[in-house]
Formats: sequence, structure tokens, C-alpha cells
Amino acid sequence: MKKLDTKWMHPRDQIIMIIDKIYHSGLTTTSGGNISIIDESGDIWVTPSAIDKGSLRASDIVCVRKDGTIEGRHKPSSEYPFHKAIYEIRPDIKAVVHAHPPALVSFSIVRQIPNTNIIPQAKNICGPIGYAEYKLPGSEELGEIIAKEFERGYNAVIMENHGTVVGGTDLGDAFQRFETLEFCGRTIIYGSSIGKPNYLTDEQIDEFEEQIPRLLPEMEKTEHPSDERAIREEIKKIVHRASAQGLMISSYGTVSVRWKGNDFLITPTNVARWDIQNEDIVQIKDGKREAGKLPSRSTWLHQEIYKRFPHVNSIILTQTPYLMAYSVSAEKLDVRTIPESWIFLQDVPNVPFGSHFAGKEEILNLLSKNTPAVIIDNDSVLVTGDKLLGTFDRLVDAEFSAKSLVLSVSLGDLKPINDEQVEDLRKKFLS
Ligand SMILES: [Zn+2]
Repeated sequence: MKKLDTKWMHPRDQIIMIIDKIYHSGLTTTSGGNISIIDESGDIWVTPSAIDKGSLRASDIVCVRKDGTIEGRHKPSSEYPFHKAIYEIRPDIKAVVHAHPPALVSFSIVRQIPNTNIIPQAKNICGPIGYAEYKLPGSEELGEIIAKEFERGYNAVIMENHGTVVGGTDLGDAFQRFETLEFCGRTIIYGSSIGKPNYLTDEQIDEFEEQIPRLLPEMEKTEHPSDERAIREEIKKIVHRASAQGLMISSYGTVSVRWKGNDFLITPTNVARWDIQNEDIVQIKDGKREAGKLPSRSTWLHQEIYKRFPHVNSIILTQTPYLMAYSVSAEKLDVRTIPESWIFLQDVPNVPFGSHFAGKEEILNLLSKNTPAVIIDNDSVLVTGDKLLGTFDRLVDAEFSAKSLVLSVSLGDLKPINDEQVEDLRKKFLS
């Protein structure tokens, strides 16, 4: 079963799960941020006012009945007026998330809206972004001005000198929009600190949506022997770990592991990555997919990599905050920072957006034992390796290197390890 099951879980349990995720991802302060859900009877379930977000329990959630009666041990959030205003003006919205996540607050204090064309999936997930000018927190005026933006059709709004508010058809939808928008903000900020961010055109985004395979034919019968199930467990654990460590967001990222021959298991498309379960993972055998499941949109690329590179037994394709700075600015990631980075990664070339689409050869021609990872412009980073844990380790290492490089910009120029020192590393560790 899904961890977040918006159909069967009580609204207060859904709220607790998501506020916990937001808090532990560093996307809200201890007291800031609030979440609500409107149920089918018109009752609104909302986080309480001024209670520690790190230790909130289901019994702390307040219910404001349709007739205005308040039930619960606490007062509803002081921002409740704008939650209510959004539900009144937009009956299609069933959940609202408001917080002060650092990158979007940065945008709100310089009074800008992040351009979601920075990565391919964000434009469709977030939709166009509204902007609400500053009003006193908790006031009816703030409620009105936000509701006006939602009335215009926006599902995500930057609140001037405050933060952001997003709505969704359920809490999973709202959370994904919130997280993706913050990720866009962060990517633009980090990309700007090392270079100049490039943005995808609407045509490139459409192209990304349309290139979706050539869906593989379905197999008639699928068997799940023990070794196959062990791989599912391994993939799920790594995806959850990557999500918890901020190395994969809900809306993007693929992990696959070779099973036997060129058969492999791969994560599905359209499932929140942090909530992937063993049964969601898709078996690909003899060029066919497990019936009734949609494998990742990058399945073709994974399949070709397994066919051509016998040394590759696992692949991770994801968006991480600091590597994406290199992806969106097309700056070269120089891994000659510390010995470990160079040994693990050697050379990480950039390839243009679209190189990962079905039928394209560029990445296949670049990958080798000495080039285990590539950065795809405005898209993601692709890391290959033998065992999945080793591939994950390589990803973590690349992200740490990128982070050190981004953080070093304000200190001075990078002084890389020199050729001779690199040669010594090669002799000692790679030959
Ligand atoms: Zn607020």
C-alpha cells in the first residue's frame, strides 16, 4: 500500500505525513507553514496555530466544520482565512500547502517568480505561477488577494515578502507541486551562482512530453522469483534513501538494476518517488514490459545501456540540487577537486537536452568505464555502475563535489589537482 493514500487515509493522517516530510526536508521552519484538506462534506482539516511542526500528531489537527464550528484541542492556523478563501473560489482544489521554503522566499523578497522552464517536468506540474502582493499575515485582505490569483486559474502563487501557497486536487498533488516549484527556485539560484541559467523553450518541453516511447509490448505472464523480488526491494530502498537525502524529488528520477542477461527492473512513471513500493517496480524481460504497468519514460535508454555495456549493472537518473546547477548553466563540472571525486567520477561531460530521448545515440557513445556519469542539460544527471549501492555512492559523491564547487564560488577560483597528481591517482587506484 502507498504511504500516502489520499483515497483511504483520513485527512488528518495525510496532513501529518506531508507536514512531516516538509519539515524533515528543510522546507519549513518549526512554527511556519500550514496545510489543509477539504473533505467531501465541506469540512476543512487544518494544521493548528503555533504548534511545533516537528512533533505534530493527528490529534492536533483542527477541523473547521462547514457551518464554522471548530473542533479540536487547538486553534486553527492563523493563515486559515486564505485556505478557506481558496476553497470557496476554486471547488476543484481539495488541498492547500503553504510554507516559507528558503528558495521561494528568496524569490519572494526580490519580488520575482521562478521560471519553471528550467527543468522539463515543472511547467506541467506547477502550471503558470501567480503573484500576490504583500498583505498582513492572517488578514482577510491576504485571503482576498490570494483567492484572486487562484480565481485567475493559478495553482501556485508566490506571496510577496512571505513565501508560497499551492493548491492541488489532493494532498499528494499539492505537495508535488510545492516541492517541484521550490526545486526550480533552488536550481535557478545555484545555477546563477556558477554561471547563467538557460531555460527550455515550450517546444522543447512539448518534445519531452511527446517522445514518450514506443511503449514496449506487454508480456503475457510475469514471474517474480526470489532474486527478482530482491532487486525490487533493493531499488525501493535506494529510491527512498535518495528521496530522504534530497537526491530525488517526487516528480522525477529513475532507478534500474540488471536482473539477468539484458533483462532488468526499473521504476515506474507517474508514481511519487518517495512513495514507490515493491509492486510498483516494472520488470522488463525480452524487450517486453510487465502487463498493466508503465515503466519510466527513459526505459529505452536504460535498455540500450544494458545491451551495450556488460559492466553496467545499475543506473540512476535523477535531479539533485547542486549537480543541476551544472545542468542548467551548462558549466563544466570539474571533478579534480579532491582525490576521491576524481577516482569515482573521472570525467563528467555535459550533453544537450534531448540526448536522453528514445533513439538518440549521444549518451551511448559517451559512456564508458572511464565516463560513468553524464550531466544532461536542463534535465538530470545519469550515473552508471556495477552494484546499485556503488552507483548511489557515485551519485552522492558527484553531488558533494558539485556542492563544494558551488559553495566555493564566493571564496575564490578553484585550484584543481594538476595533471601529474591525476596521473598518480590513475596509476594507484585505476590500473
Ligand atoms: Zn506564512
